[in-house]
Amino acid sequence: MIIAVDGPTASGKGTISKQLAAHFGLPHLDTGLLYRAVGRQVQLNGTDPDSEADAVAATSFPDSLLEDPELRSEAGGSLASRVSVHPGVRKALFERQRAFAQQDGGAVLDGRDIGTVICPDADVKLFVTASLDARTDRRFAEMQGQGRDVTREEVLEQVRRRDERDMERKDAPLVAAPDAFILDTTTLDKAAAIAAAINVVTTATR
Ligand code: C5P
Repeated sequence: MIIAVDGPTASGKGTISKQLAAHFGLPHLDTGLLYRAVGRQVQLNGTDPDSEADAVAATSFPDSLLEDPELRSEAGGSLASRVSVHPGVRKALFERQRAFAQQDGGAVLDGRDIGTVICPDADVKLFVTASLDARTDRRFAEMQGQGRDVTREEVLEQVRRRDERDMERKDAPLVAAPDAFILDTTTLDKAAAIAAAINVVTTATR
């Protein structure tokens, strides 16, 4: 069974995907991490994330880079969204994602274009979303918990800018597949969002 999970930043799709994978006993790939690794490799190379050639050269990053804690930072997410606009980067990462999805028994993949480009044939597609305010509140609370010196206004601007870049790029923009279940987590806590996602998958594959 292939489960495709897409959605904007701070929608809860990462947590939901991990829990779906645990519940259904499937391996999980956080595809955002691949784009984050490309962004980080560009930075380590001292090259330009907005140059397609420089970003494509960084797609041959070593696997060990996926463990770099810098990848998880907001700066890492922002760099990822800059390199992810280049069609050459998306093409270079395509086979790796596809091979993961097609392993025996299936998998859960989360990202922005899983249901539309990577696995249009997925058994279940979920598009996890939440209002800009709710996503800002979550990201702000997370950053405050990490002791980061940041205002809510700054976080709102970061989330808004990332949405804009991900939704407006020409190649594989963030959009729900026509056959995706829309799961709006604005008013749901973590446990309720996970339960709702498990329910969608169970019902769809019954
Ligand atoms: O999901 P995450 O926040 O880690 O993704 C970081 C960035 O990588 C996203 O903002 C998006 O620009 C890019 N990305 C993408 N396609 C994916 C996953 C992530 O373009 N499948």
